[in-house]
Amino acid sequence: MSGPVLVLDQVTKRFRTVAALEAVDLQVGHGELVAIVGPSGCGKSTMLRSVAGLTTIDSGRIVVGGRDVAGPGVFIPPEERHIGVVFQDLALFPHLDVAGNVAFGVPRGERRSSRAREVLDLVGLTGLESRYPHELSGGEQQRVALARALAPRPDVVLLDEPFSHLDRNLRMEVRDHTIEVLRAAAATGVFVTHDQEEAMAVGDRVAVMRSGRFEQVAAPETVFHAPVSRFVATFLGEADFVAGTRFGTRVDTVLGQLPVTSAGTGRCEVMLRPHELTIDEDADGDGIVERTDFRGAVVMHHVTLSEGSRIRAQRPHTEPVKAGTRVRVRPVLTHPLVAFAVP
Ligand code: ADP
Ligand code: MG
Repeated sequence: MSGPVLVLDQVTKRFRTVAALEAVDLQVGHGELVAIVGPSGCGKSTMLRSVAGLTTIDSGRIVVGGRDVAGPGVFIPPEERHIGVVFQDLALFPHLDVAGNVAFGVPRGERRSSRAREVLDLVGLTGLESRYPHELSGGEQQRVALARALAPRPDVVLLDEPFSHLDRNLRMEVRDHTIEVLRAAAATGVFVTHDQEEAMAVGDRVAVMRSGRFEQVAAPETVFHAPVSRFVATFLGEADFVAGTRFGTRVDTVLGQLPVTSAGTGRCEVMLRPHELTIDEDADGDGIVERTDFRGAVVMHHVTLSEGSRIRAQRPHTEPVKAGTRVRVRPVLTHPLVAFAVP
């Protein structure tokens, strides 16, 4: 199919005074995975539920596979939207075995059992067809839920924090496997998470949501390295801001002259992430290490600069600098930085 498989056009949804979705626009292309990330309560689940048809929208339009499924005078029921869902509560049918769960949504016209076998093979569950959900591990239940969502060959797969009930190690394993399966199935999907790293690992594009709006929708590298706002900058990872004065694409700061991506003049703040700074012991330096956090591979150093701002700098775990040490802070840049104008 040419053109986007899923379109949200100015979708708005309010719950009394709460604007859960505020004129949301999104287009998802064939075989694309978009990760939606944002703080709790920002509207992520409402967006997926609107697409799935589990809730109505107040205004705007939703198009799935070229067909309007929600909009002025239109409401296609969930079971007719050609959408597969994997939600946090996997909601497997306890009285059906694995094969029965997976075959459940496959249209009657198709050989249900052969399609179920095909999808179980795709998710790596061959051999467990006659187990019941309570006889499966958390990771296996996850695979059944994914297989069940994919079996009817939906136009779009929606996943809402699907791994949040799994512990961290298993979560990463299941996540990698889920992405492999979605790619192998060439599925078009929207994946919701509140975990920034997960969003960047999963999404071809990441949509950062805040209070019912998308603040930025772009490739993972772009939202991380070229955030459009301080909110996106700090939500996607540790970020500090150093004040300065911009002259074209250079900014004079306490850390020296820093190159930035956008030209301008006047006061601004430059975003720096901890991996972009390092520190060296220096009796004449203008920073003091206030605190260190051991993070395994690296040690995070919290440093106060003489003009009052605080920055974080990381060093290999083999070369920590003790709290109380006077240091010089040095940028280690591989690309120009982002600057935000100060009003
Ligand atoms: P998220 O999934 O990002 O955590 P939700 O989409 O669940 O956020 O919720 C967005 C906002 O809408 C929140 O303020 C939430 O309290 C509100 N909300 C969600 N569902 C309902 C509902 N059925 N009734 C009233 N308010 C709701
Ligand atoms: Mg939610």
